[in-house]
Amino acid sequence: MTYDVLIIGSGPGGMTAALYAARANLKTLLLEMGAPGGQMNNTQHIENYPGFTKIPGFELGRNMHESALEHGVISDFGIVTSVVDNGATKIVTCEDGAVFEAKVVIIATGSVFRKLDVPGEAKYAGRGVSYCAVCDGAFFKDRDVVVVGGGDSAIEEAQFLTQFASKVTVVHRRDELRAQKILQDRAFANPKIEFVWDSVVEEVEGSALVEGVVLKNVKTGAVSKLAASGVFIYVGLLPNSGCFENLGILDDEGWIPTDGDMHTDVKGIFAVGDVRRKHFRQIATAVGDGAKAGQGSYNYLIDNDLI
Ligand code: FAD
Ligand code: NAP
Repeated sequence: MTYDVLIIGSGPGGMTAALYAARANLKTLLLEMGAPGGQMNNTQHIENYPGFTKIPGFELGRNMHESALEHGVISDFGIVTSVVDNGATKIVTCEDGAVFEAKVVIIATGSVFRKLDVPGEAKYAGRGVSYCAVCDGAFFKDRDVVVVGGGDSAIEEAQFLTQFASKVTVVHRRDELRAQKILQDRAFANPKIEFVWDSVVEEVEGSALVEGVVLKNVKTGAVSKLAASGVFIYVGLLPNSGCFENLGILDDEGWIPTDGDMHTDVKGIFAVGDVRRKHFRQIATAVGDGAKAGQGSYNYLIDNDLI
């Protein structure tokens, strides 16, 4: 069977693209390698998605998925490993050997957390080093933890961790935060959050489990140690785009540039959400991208006499 549209990734971008494609009466397949919801599943509460003052991330994800299914989207498990462009059709292959054919492919694979790449980080992953406060925060009840980074993720997750930890120390490489003002104000007002400015983590130390970090002040060069049972690392994102390298659509950092309609440089291949080269990575912007790509797929199929 040839699908009209095949979407890779069920985060907010992919699920919205699927909804719009299905509502344009296109035969639409949504492939996901984990649980539908994407990064929303790692967010306790979302407060900046219009229409909801506050909604648990997994619930918003579940609602979006139900909405797509209701309109006829076929949703399946699949770890996509390659996409081959044959012009009017594209061939999508999964890790288990499953092969799908589609006239349009929409890449909605999002991003992964960047690693610090310091000694001890890999050794203590799952033994005190974490990239997901929502998943692991409760293990640190009445313990001191460190959060590395100064963006929205670091500051929001530092706040989340204060529910469990006795103290949360944010280590940031500059003396001002990158995070949104509202998140900064809340963190500065939280007596459980402390800041170590102008500093980077040079090493994660411990024995069986994490016991602390070695810090270096980037202005003075001074090296110090900070005791902690947990180290939560939020130093940015890397695109989930390795398996699309053969298509020649990635920029030199692996992000996927598109035009305003989310079309990549390859005809019939679109990209939406966090994997796209863009400035503002949010649920609302991923949803906007998805709507454009879903509708754009229909326009592309009509313009090229493919339906
Ligand atoms: P994602 O949500 O990352 O979804 C991508 C999906 O693709 C995933 O489900 C993944 O499993 C799947 N996938 C990847 N590769 C493959 C493959 N090869 N085969 C099959 N499936 C694949 N934004 C807000 O607006 N408000 C917030 O409060 C907020 N909080 C956040 C908190 C944290 C900790 C983080 C990290 C981000 C937060 N964001 C928030 C940002 C927001 O979550 C993202 O911008 C948004 O989820 C991006 O959507 P997406 O659909 O592009 O990708
Ligand atoms: P980000 O915005 O790229 O911030 C990364 C932070 O890590 C920056 O403060 C950066 O420092 C620091 N950093 C980068 N490399 C480092 C290194 N090697 N060592 C030490 N520090 C390093 O990433 P993010 O916070 O994960 O956010 C990603 C996207 O998700 C953003 O678009 C964000 O808006 C969105 N998001 C939104 C929400 C929300 O709306 N509530 C919540 C979470 C995430 P510098 O500041 O010096 O560059």
